[in-house]
Amino acid sequence: MHMAVAAGLSGVVLSCHPIGATQEHANAPERFGPWQSSMEILRPEPLPGCENGCMKEYAHCINQIRVEDVVKSMEKIIESSDKEYIVELDIDICRGWRYGNM
Ligand SMILES: [Zn+2]
Repeated sequence: MHMAVAAGLSGVVLSCHPIGATQEHANAPERFGPWQSSMEILRPEPLPGCENGCMKEYAHCINQIRVEDVVKSMEKIIESSDKEYIVELDIDICRGWRYGNM
């Protein structure tokens, strides 16, 4: 993410840090996320026990981010850009990956 920002690229960042959690947490995108960039950050709603930051050592709250929301964000970036992109995304593969790691 930081390398992409340094290269001037746009993109979508999936943060494990739940919406509404403290900005002082090490995973808070407000504190350690992309700085002065057009990166779009998607964050999950907190699951019980993770209101101040996801406390699990495995993919937990971040699994609340839907593949469809990532695709929507990517489409928004592409539509607002004057660059040409080649995008190939197999939603079914993403879903399999998402649920295969839970
Ligand atoms: Zn969590």
